[in-house]
Amino acid sequence: MANDTSTLTVSQREQMLLAPYATFTSASKGRKIPEIEHEYRGAFQRDRDRILHSSAYRRLSGKMQVFTGEMGDYHRTRLTHTQEVASIARTIARTLRLNEDLVEALALLHDIGHPPYGHAGEDVLDECMKSHGGFSHNQFALTIVEEIEHRHSGQPGLNLTYEVLAGQTDRIDKTKKGLRPSLEVQLVDAADSTTYDAHDTDDAIKLGLVSLEEMAKNRLVAECIARVKKKYTSLTEFELQKGVIRRLVDIQVTDLIHHTAEQLAIRDFQSIDEVIESDFIVEPSAEIREQKEELEKFLYAEVYRHPELMIVRQQAQRRLERMYNGFCARPELIPQKYQSRIEKVGLEKAAGHYIAGMTDRFCDRCYQLHFTPGLRS
Ligand code: MG
Repeated sequence: MANDTSTLTVSQREQMLLAPYATFTSASKGRKIPEIEHEYRGAFQRDRDRILHSSAYRRLSGKMQVFTGEMGDYHRTRLTHTQEVASIARTIARTLRLNEDLVEALALLHDIGHPPYGHAGEDVLDECMKSHGGFSHNQFALTIVEEIEHRHSGQPGLNLTYEVLAGQTDRIDKTKKGLRPSLEVQLVDAADSTTYDAHDTDDAIKLGLVSLEEMAKNRLVAECIARVKKKYTSLTEFELQKGVIRRLVDIQVTDLIHHTAEQLAIRDFQSIDEVIESDFIVEPSAEIREQKEELEKFLYAEVYRHPELMIVRQQAQRRLERMYNGFCARPELIPQKYQSRIEKVGLEKAAGHYIAGMTDRFCDRCYQLHFTPGLRS
């Protein structure tokens, strides 16, 4: 594209807008298979688009976040959760002058490896595949974009940049020692937690698992209620709840931006190398961190372990275990596309990965078709 005054190259835009310690597209370590750069889309923009157009990404619409499709139509799915994370992460990245394209690619990728039935599905697959390396949704996200998805014939994977793959790799073992992840990677992690703390509170109240009064036992929620009531004198219950959730996002995001900006000003990093060699952590202030921990403990005890969800969890786990054992006993039930993976990674892994790629609904249908006693094909 002609570089006249009406257009900016990706590099020019980043030089104008990004902080010196951001990840610059022009400094990318590139892709495993080198590619000619696009005329006007940067490498991280292309990664974002590749993830967005992958079938694994689309299937997130049929995967539960915390609550199943049978519980209603209004709560978050794994896809809308991902979109909210991307939106919040972009806001933070833009304000802190970090790379929005990289942040968005990482956000769209971060949950792409989730199996059906959320963490219940992950736990049972991990148990089933124990002697074959176990199962982790973070690891499986990499398997999807490096092995399972295809762009061109003969080339497995999406050929994403080193920075996006490294960002997802950093999610696998957060306790590992060594270089710190880039600020963009850390930011997406913080945005993920901000997002689910707010929307799980929202969904749990809407589904009637807890009331706003019960949630108000948490200091963070109580502060949000106080702020809404201070601004508006007459509110319906619905308006109050909506206002509370908005502030739950706003308080966390504002705190994260201010706290991180303050810490960055103190450190005065001049490059990304200085960041990754330091012990810098993108995190909320100590006060909000404490309040988030309190809220997360409450959500775990009162929502994620709610009897209604425990039943779903147990049913899903029984089904997935039976399916896994069934596919291992009768590999001919695994579709043609996955048969080649049996040769490549072994039957157990291929069976687990086939199940992990399913939506909740497809998983139910598959179970009924092949593994329901009396209806066995
Ligand atoms: Mg997430």
